Amino acid sequence: MSLVVVGSMAYDAIETPFGKTERVLGGAATYIALASSYFTHPVQTISVVGYDFAESDIQIMRDHEINLEGVQIKTDEKSFFWSGKYHNDMNSRDTLVTELNVLGTFDPIVPASYQGCEYLLLGNLSPDVQRLVIERLDKRPKLIAMDTMNFWMDIALDSLHQTIAMVDVLIINDEEARQLTGEYSLKRAAKKIMSMGPKFAVIKKGEHGALLFHQDEVFSAPGLPLEEVFDPTGAGDTFAGGFIGHVAKTGDVSFDNLKRAVVYGSALASFCVEKFGPERLLGLSPEVIETRVNQFVRLANFDLT
Ligand code: AMP
Repeated sequence: MSLVVVGSMAYDAIETPFGKTERVLGGAATYIALASSYFTHPVQTISVVGYDFAESDIQIMRDHEINLEGVQIKTDEKSFFWSGKYHNDMNSRDTLVTELNVLGTFDPIVPASYQGCEYLLLGNLSPDVQRLVIERLDKRPKLIAMDTMNFWMDIALDSLHQTIAMVDVLIINDEEARQLTGEYSLKRAAKKIMSMGPKFAVIKKGEHGALLFHQDEVFSAPGLPLEEVFDPTGAGDTFAGGFIGHVAKTGDVSFDNLKRAVVYGSALASFCVEKFGPERLLGLSPEVIETRVNQFVRLANFDLT
Protein backbone atom coordinates (compact mmCIF):
# COMPACT_ATOMS: atom_id res chain seq x y z
CA MET A 1 0.00 0.00 0.00
CA SER A 2 1.22 3.47 -0.81
CA LEU A 3 3.73 5.06 1.50
CA VAL A 4 5.17 8.56 1.39
CA VAL A 5 8.59 9.08 2.97
CA VAL A 6 9.94 12.54 3.78
CA GLY A 7 13.44 13.32 5.00
CA SER A 8 16.96 14.38 4.21
CA MET A 9 19.07 12.92 1.42
CA ALA A 10 22.64 13.62 2.28
CA TYR A 11 26.33 13.02 2.25
CA ASP A 12 27.84 12.03 5.57
CA ALA A 13 31.36 11.94 6.97
CA ILE A 14 31.54 9.28 9.67
CA GLU A 15 34.17 8.17 12.16
CA THR A 16 33.73 5.03 14.24
CA PRO A 17 36.32 3.04 16.22
CA PHE A 18 36.56 0.78 13.14
CA GLY A 19 37.12 3.30 10.41
CA LYS A 20 36.49 6.61 8.83
CA THR A 21 34.82 7.83 5.67
CA GLU A 22 34.86 11.38 4.32
CA ARG A 23 31.81 11.09 2.10
CA VAL A 24 29.20 8.39 2.02
CA LEU A 25 25.58 8.40 0.90
CA GLY A 26 23.30 9.17 3.84
CA GLY A 27 20.22 11.02 4.92
CA ALA A 28 17.09 9.98 6.72
CA ALA A 29 14.92 9.56 3.62
CA THR A 30 17.62 7.47 1.94
CA TYR A 31 17.75 4.92 4.76
CA ILE A 32 13.97 4.92 5.33
CA ALA A 33 13.12 4.47 1.66
CA LEU A 34 15.69 1.71 1.13
CA ALA A 35 14.46 -0.19 4.21
CA SER A 36 10.77 0.18 3.43
CA SER A 37 11.29 -0.82 -0.21
CA TYR A 38 11.70 -4.42 1.01
CA PHE A 39 8.10 -4.41 2.24
CA THR A 40 5.86 -2.25 0.11
CA HIS A 41 5.45 -0.34 -3.15
CA PRO A 42 5.19 2.39 -4.12
CA VAL A 43 7.61 4.13 -1.74
CA GLN A 44 7.15 7.77 -2.71
CA THR A 45 9.96 10.05 -1.54
CA ILE A 46 9.92 13.77 -0.79
CA SER A 47 13.33 15.38 -0.35
CA VAL A 48 15.82 17.80 -1.88
CA VAL A 49 19.40 17.39 -3.11
CA GLY A 50 22.01 19.74 -4.55
CA TYR A 51 24.20 19.86 -7.64
CA ASP A 52 26.75 17.58 -5.99
CA PHE A 53 24.37 14.63 -5.58
CA ALA A 54 25.73 11.82 -7.73
CA GLU A 55 23.58 10.20 -10.40
CA SER A 56 24.92 6.84 -9.19
CA ASP A 57 23.37 7.49 -5.76
CA ILE A 58 20.03 8.37 -7.33
CA GLN A 59 20.33 5.13 -9.28
CA ILE A 60 20.73 3.13 -6.04
CA MET A 61 17.29 4.38 -5.04
CA ARG A 62 15.85 3.70 -8.49
CA ASP A 63 17.22 0.16 -8.37
CA HIS A 64 15.01 -0.34 -5.31
CA GLU A 65 12.01 0.93 -7.32
CA ILE A 66 11.75 3.99 -5.07
CA ASN A 67 9.65 6.77 -6.59
CA LEU A 68 11.70 10.00 -6.66
CA GLU A 69 9.17 12.31 -8.32
CA GLY A 70 9.03 14.39 -5.12
CA VAL A 71 12.81 14.81 -4.88
CA GLN A 72 13.87 18.30 -5.99
CA ILE A 73 17.31 18.95 -7.45
CA LYS A 74 18.74 22.43 -6.72
CA THR A 75 21.43 23.21 -9.23
CA ASP A 76 22.82 26.21 -7.33
CA GLU A 77 23.28 24.68 -3.86
CA LYS A 78 25.04 21.78 -2.18
CA SER A 79 23.32 18.76 -0.68
CA PHE A 80 22.77 18.47 3.07
CA PHE A 81 25.99 17.40 4.79
CA TRP A 82 26.33 15.80 8.20
CA SER A 83 29.36 14.54 10.07
CA GLY A 84 29.43 12.45 13.22
CA LYS A 85 31.93 10.65 15.41
CA TYR A 86 31.01 7.63 17.51
CA HIS A 87 32.32 6.99 21.00
CA ASN A 88 33.99 3.68 21.79
CA ASP A 89 30.76 2.01 22.93
CA MET A 90 29.11 2.95 19.56
CA ASN A 91 25.89 3.73 21.44
CA SER A 92 26.53 7.45 21.53
CA ARG A 93 28.00 9.91 19.08
CA ASP A 94 28.87 13.55 18.68
CA THR A 95 27.57 15.50 15.73
CA LEU A 96 30.59 17.38 14.37
CA VAL A 97 29.01 19.24 11.46
CA THR A 98 25.47 19.90 10.24
CA GLU A 99 25.44 21.89 7.00
CA LEU A 100 21.80 22.34 6.02
CA ASN A 101 22.61 23.70 2.52
CA VAL A 102 19.57 22.79 0.34
CA LEU A 103 17.57 21.86 3.44
CA GLY A 104 17.78 25.43 4.75
CA THR A 105 15.21 26.68 2.20
CA PHE A 106 13.42 23.43 1.45
CA ASP A 107 9.82 23.93 0.33
CA PRO A 108 8.45 20.40 -0.09
CA ILE A 109 6.41 19.58 -3.18
CA VAL A 110 3.82 16.82 -2.94
CA PRO A 111 3.35 15.46 -6.49
CA ALA A 112 -0.25 14.76 -7.54
CA SER A 113 0.58 11.06 -7.84
CA TYR A 114 1.42 10.94 -4.09
CA GLN A 115 -2.03 12.25 -3.06
CA GLY A 116 -4.22 9.68 -1.35
CA CYS A 117 -1.25 7.86 0.20
CA GLU A 118 -2.23 5.62 3.08
CA TYR A 119 0.93 5.86 5.18
CA LEU A 120 3.28 8.75 5.86
CA LEU A 121 6.70 8.56 7.48
CA LEU A 122 8.10 11.95 8.41
CA GLY A 123 11.82 11.32 8.67
CA ASN A 124 14.33 13.57 10.33
CA LEU A 125 13.93 17.07 8.93
CA SER A 126 12.85 20.51 10.06
CA PRO A 127 9.50 20.16 11.89
CA ASP A 128 8.18 23.07 9.78
CA VAL A 129 8.76 21.05 6.64
CA GLN A 130 7.32 17.89 8.20
CA ARG A 131 4.15 19.82 9.03
CA LEU A 132 3.94 21.39 5.58
CA VAL A 133 3.84 17.92 4.04
CA ILE A 134 0.92 16.89 6.26
CA GLU A 135 -0.89 20.11 5.35
CA ARG A 136 -0.24 19.63 1.63
CA LEU A 137 -1.83 16.19 1.54
CA ASP A 138 -5.47 16.39 0.43
CA LYS A 139 -6.48 13.54 2.71
CA ARG A 140 -5.01 12.53 6.08
CA PRO A 141 -3.18 9.19 5.74
CA LYS A 142 -4.32 6.19 7.79
CA LEU A 143 -1.16 6.40 9.91
CA ILE A 144 1.43 9.14 10.27
CA ALA A 145 4.71 8.29 12.00
CA MET A 146 7.53 10.72 12.64
CA ASP A 147 11.15 10.72 13.69
CA THR A 148 13.15 13.65 14.94
CA MET A 149 16.42 14.35 16.73
CA ASN A 150 18.05 16.58 19.35
CA PHE A 151 19.17 19.08 16.67
CA TRP A 152 15.54 20.11 16.07
CA MET A 153 14.73 20.12 19.80
CA ASP A 154 17.58 22.58 20.28
CA ILE A 155 16.60 25.03 17.54
CA ALA A 156 12.87 24.54 16.79
CA LEU A 157 11.14 23.18 19.89
CA ASP A 158 7.82 25.05 19.50
CA SER A 159 7.44 23.97 15.90
CA LEU A 160 8.41 20.42 16.86
CA HIS A 161 5.61 20.32 19.45
CA GLN A 162 3.11 21.48 16.81
CA THR A 163 4.15 18.68 14.47
CA ILE A 164 4.20 16.01 17.18
CA ALA A 165 0.59 16.95 18.02
CA MET A 166 -0.44 15.98 14.45
CA VAL A 167 1.04 12.46 14.25
CA ASP A 168 0.02 8.97 15.38
CA VAL A 169 3.45 7.53 16.20
CA LEU A 170 6.57 9.28 17.46
CA ILE A 171 9.77 7.29 16.98
CA ILE A 172 12.79 8.61 18.89
CA ASN A 173 15.76 7.28 20.82
CA ASP A 174 16.06 7.16 24.61
CA GLU A 175 18.33 10.20 24.91
CA GLU A 176 15.99 12.27 22.72
CA ALA A 177 12.91 11.08 24.64
CA ARG A 178 14.54 12.24 27.88
CA GLN A 179 15.51 15.60 26.36
CA LEU A 180 12.03 16.15 24.89
CA THR A 181 10.12 15.32 28.08
CA GLY A 182 12.55 16.08 30.90
CA GLU A 183 11.80 12.61 32.30
CA TYR A 184 14.51 10.05 33.00
CA SER A 185 12.09 7.11 33.24
CA LEU A 186 11.27 5.97 29.72
CA LYS A 187 7.80 4.93 30.87
CA ARG A 188 7.10 8.44 32.10
CA ALA A 189 8.71 9.92 29.00
CA ALA A 190 6.42 7.80 26.81
CA LYS A 191 3.36 8.90 28.80
CA LYS A 192 4.32 12.53 28.29
CA ILE A 193 4.88 11.94 24.57
CA MET A 194 1.44 10.35 24.27
CA SER A 195 -0.08 13.33 26.11
CA MET A 196 1.41 15.55 23.36
CA GLY A 197 -0.77 13.86 20.70
CA PRO A 198 0.65 10.55 19.38
CA LYS A 199 -1.26 7.37 20.25
CA PHE A 200 1.96 5.36 20.11
CA ALA A 201 5.49 6.12 21.27
CA VAL A 202 8.45 4.08 20.07
CA ILE A 203 11.63 4.58 22.06
CA LYS A 204 14.79 3.09 20.53
CA LYS A 205 17.60 2.07 22.84
CA GLY A 206 20.43 1.48 20.38
CA GLU A 207 21.95 -1.98 20.74
CA HIS A 208 19.58 -2.66 23.66
CA GLY A 209 16.43 -2.85 21.55
CA ALA A 210 13.26 -0.80 21.38
CA LEU A 211 10.09 -0.16 23.38
CA LEU A 212 6.60 0.40 22.00
CA PHE A 213 4.08 2.21 24.22
CA HIS A 214 0.32 2.52 23.70
CA GLN A 215 -2.09 3.62 26.44
CA ASP A 216 -1.05 1.50 29.45
CA GLU A 217 0.62 -1.20 27.36
CA VAL A 218 4.30 -1.65 26.69
CA PHE A 219 6.13 -4.03 24.37
CA SER A 220 9.86 -4.63 24.41
CA ALA A 221 11.82 -5.88 21.39
CA PRO A 222 15.35 -7.06 22.09
CA GLY A 223 18.49 -5.87 20.40
CA LEU A 224 20.16 -8.69 18.51
CA PRO A 225 23.73 -9.26 19.71
CA LEU A 226 25.89 -8.91 16.59
CA GLU A 227 29.46 -9.98 15.98
CA GLU A 228 30.19 -7.03 13.75
CA VAL A 229 29.02 -3.48 14.30
CA PHE A 230 30.89 -1.08 12.02
CA ASP A 231 28.68 1.98 11.77
CA PRO A 232 25.37 2.72 13.52
CA THR A 233 24.63 5.70 11.25
CA GLY A 234 21.16 5.44 9.80
CA ALA A 235 20.11 2.61 12.12
CA GLY A 236 17.33 4.79 13.55
CA ASP A 237 16.05 5.72 10.11
CA THR A 238 16.34 2.15 8.90
CA PHE A 239 14.33 1.05 11.93
CA ALA A 240 11.64 3.57 10.99
CA GLY A 241 11.68 2.31 7.38
CA GLY A 242 11.26 -1.32 8.40
CA PHE A 243 8.58 -0.34 10.91
CA ILE A 244 6.41 1.66 8.49
CA GLY A 245 7.17 -0.76 5.65
CA HIS A 246 5.66 -3.63 7.62
CA VAL A 247 2.63 -1.54 8.58
CA ALA A 248 2.08 -0.47 4.97
CA LYS A 249 2.49 -4.04 3.72
CA THR A 250 -0.06 -5.46 6.16
CA GLY A 251 -2.43 -2.47 6.33
CA ASP A 252 -2.99 -3.15 10.02
CA VAL A 253 -2.45 -0.38 12.58
CA SER A 254 -3.38 -2.38 15.70
CA PHE A 255 -1.05 -2.50 18.71
CA ASP A 256 -0.36 -6.19 18.05
CA ASN A 257 0.73 -5.49 14.51
CA LEU A 258 2.82 -2.50 15.56
CA LYS A 259 4.69 -4.90 17.87
CA ARG A 260 5.61 -6.94 14.80
CA ALA A 261 6.54 -3.72 13.01
CA VAL A 262 8.99 -2.91 15.83
CA VAL A 263 10.63 -6.31 15.31
CA TYR A 264 10.85 -5.82 11.53
CA GLY A 265 12.31 -2.36 12.13
CA SER A 266 14.85 -3.80 14.56
CA ALA A 267 15.80 -6.53 12.09
CA LEU A 268 16.42 -4.06 9.25
CA ALA A 269 18.44 -1.82 11.60
CA SER A 270 20.57 -4.80 12.61
CA PHE A 271 21.66 -5.15 8.97
CA CYS A 272 22.36 -1.44 8.61
CA VAL A 273 25.04 -1.33 11.33
CA GLU A 274 27.07 -4.16 9.82
CA LYS A 275 28.68 -1.96 7.14
CA PHE A 276 29.45 1.71 6.57
CA GLY A 277 26.63 3.88 5.27
CA PRO A 278 23.64 2.17 3.63
CA GLU A 279 25.77 -0.50 1.90
CA ARG A 280 24.38 -3.45 3.84
CA LEU A 281 20.83 -2.40 2.97
CA LEU A 282 21.43 -2.95 -0.72
CA GLY A 283 20.53 -6.29 -2.20
CA LEU A 284 18.85 -7.93 0.82
CA SER A 285 16.24 -10.57 0.05
CA PRO A 286 12.92 -11.42 1.73
CA GLU A 287 14.45 -14.75 2.83
CA VAL A 288 17.45 -13.09 4.49
CA ILE A 289 15.15 -10.62 6.26
CA GLU A 290 12.82 -13.38 7.43
CA THR A 291 15.75 -15.39 8.80
CA ARG A 292 16.92 -12.34 10.75
CA VAL A 293 13.43 -11.68 12.10
CA ASN A 294 13.25 -15.28 13.32
CA GLN A 295 16.50 -14.75 15.22
CA PHE A 296 14.73 -11.95 17.10
CA VAL A 297 11.78 -14.20 17.82
CA ARG A 298 14.03 -16.96 19.21
CA LEU A 299 16.07 -14.47 21.21
CA ALA A 300 13.09 -13.27 23.20
CA ASN A 301 11.15 -16.53 23.41
CA PHE A 302 11.04 -18.57 26.62
CA ASP A 303 8.85 -21.05 28.48
CA LEU A 304 8.05 -20.72 32.14
CA THR A 305 7.75 -24.46 32.60
P1 AMP B 1 20.42 8.11 12.46
O1 AMP B 1 21.77 7.48 12.66
O2 AMP B 1 19.33 7.12 12.22
O3 AMP B 1 20.10 9.11 13.52
O4 AMP B 1 20.47 8.94 11.10
C1 AMP B 1 21.63 9.49 10.58
C2 AMP B 1 21.30 10.17 9.28
O5 AMP B 1 20.50 11.33 9.53
C3 AMP B 1 22.54 10.63 8.55
O6 AMP B 1 22.63 9.95 7.31
C4 AMP B 1 22.37 12.14 8.38
O7 AMP B 1 22.63 12.56 7.06
C5 AMP B 1 20.93 12.43 8.77
N1 AMP B 1 20.84 13.61 9.62
C6 AMP B 1 21.67 13.97 10.63
N2 AMP B 1 21.28 15.14 11.18
C7 AMP B 1 20.14 15.52 10.51
C8 AMP B 1 19.26 16.64 10.61
N3 AMP B 1 19.44 17.61 11.52
N4 AMP B 1 18.19 16.69 9.76
C9 AMP B 1 18.00 15.73 8.85
N5 AMP B 1 18.80 14.66 8.70
C10 AMP B 1 19.87 14.54 9.51
